[in-house]
Amino acid sequence: MTQGENAPQELYRLLPSVDELLRRPEFMALGKEVSRLALAKAVREELARARADVVQGLQTQETLIGYIERLGEVIERRMVEATQPTLMHVLNATGVILHTNLGRAPLSEPALRAIVEVAGGYSNLEFDLETGSRGRRDRHAEPMLLQALASLMDEPLEKLASEWSVAVVNNCAAATFLALNSLAEGGEVLVSRGELVEIGGGFRVPDILRKAGVTLREVGTTNRTRVSDYAEAITGNTRMILRVHQSNFRMDGFTERPELAALVELGKRANLVVFEDQGTGLLIPLERMGIKSESSLTESLRQAPDLIASSGDKLLGGPQCGLLLGRSSLVDRIRGNPLFRALRVDKLTYAALEATLLSYASHQEHEIPTIRMLRIPTEELRQRCEAVRQDITADTLEAAIVAVQSVIGGGTTPGTALESFALSLRPRAGSSSGLLAALRRQTPPVVARVHNDCVLLDLRTVPPEHDKVLSSAVRAAVEGLG
Ligand SMILES: *Cc1c(COP(=O)(O)O)cnc(C)c1O
Repeated sequence: MTQGENAPQELYRLLPSVDELLRRPEFMALGKEVSRLALAKAVREELARARADVVQGLQTQETLIGYIERLGEVIERRMVEATQPTLMHVLNATGVILHTNLGRAPLSEPALRAIVEVAGGYSNLEFDLETGSRGRRDRHAEPMLLQALASLMDEPLEKLASEWSVAVVNNCAAATFLALNSLAEGGEVLVSRGELVEIGGGFRVPDILRKAGVTLREVGTTNRTRVSDYAEAITGNTRMILRVHQSNFRMDGFTERPELAALVELGKRANLVVFEDQGTGLLIPLERMGIKSESSLTESLRQAPDLIASSGDKLLGGPQCGLLLGRSSLVDRIRGNPLFRALRVDKLTYAALEATLLSYASHQEHEIPTIRMLRIPTEELRQRCEAVRQDITADTLEAAIVAVQSVIGGGTTPGTALESFALSLRPRAGSSSGLLAALRRQTPPVVARVHNDCVLLDLRTVPPEHDKVLSSAVRAAVEGLG
């Protein structure tokens, strides 16, 4: 036991009472900003912490006196921290447009406005304004997706609407699971061995099939699968052919897989549902952005499988959700599955999704940040890098503009990259990883990457109106390095 002036009972005597503290001028001032009750609670908690530190022998008379002087600051900081949500806005300077860890697609202005309008009050989420009686949530978004598809594919809307229906669930993983469970439970589903993939985040095709209550029948080999492989695997218990878009990897060399249309043919002959897990939800061609052969929702629809599942927050650029686009009779069966209720989306999602789809339907897709970021001209990026570089001039930093390649991310376009420019930073004192960490501590936090011992800031994913915020964050982070 510590004796003398550092003994716990001696140190306790130094600690002020709650009332004494609350009478200090800095606490009087703080008490004007927060409720007296909350302040008194924070003070009691901090004093309890101080006593625990004393008991554990973590304080001496000297350190305790210093701590007591700083108590105002300490308590204020704790109260501010307690009001900080864990989820916050960050600046994405990685150049990865669909960064799953950073929330994938940022929403468009129209989508944000729709969320505010619908969620700030009541809505007709499940109310039929025509009849004044209960309506159906699952009818939202269907007309807008069909309109967008009709407009992009130059097809009559009536024709599409007479054959296809849409159901929206929480994400594409949920959509795939629900489709398998609704249409093939207890039966067999044919999948090419080349498509038994892990999409990421624990989404493995064989696991989803098992959980959905269907039996997986693997066909073909990892690198080559033919239509005849599917045909030969059909038994009386086969319900479905599942086609999975190989979204996050690419196979090269001696490979073969049938066109979707050929599977659709086979499905018709054998009376099997052909279901494509398309994934990206891409609605417009990317070729003119130099990205080749990315599967799209429109291209899939042209080949007319019975059902297609896509993500809402990948290349579609909308909110997190899963779209099921399929023959109306199948979508009706999916809507009738009790699990549909468990996987349904909320009004915020419908609001944002319909607004995003309207941008496509009215050929205003430049409103969608994902599409805008894909299309930024390289020269514009170079000029913005130059402006930011001039804005952060610090003697303690080497800054250069370098050509880089940005990946699109979200497991969407393996093996393709966008030509880009980035600002490359190397602190003269301290390390690049130190600067990277310091950038993450800014408000807003800046997420970047290190390459060749330099911090790279890729402006493709930074909205131009945030360039100034980015340069201030860099200046502050560099200063913090000392
Ligand atoms: C991304 C992806 C999924 C999962 O989509 P989430 O919306 O993240 O659930 C499923 N299938 C494919 C083919 C994908 O690309």
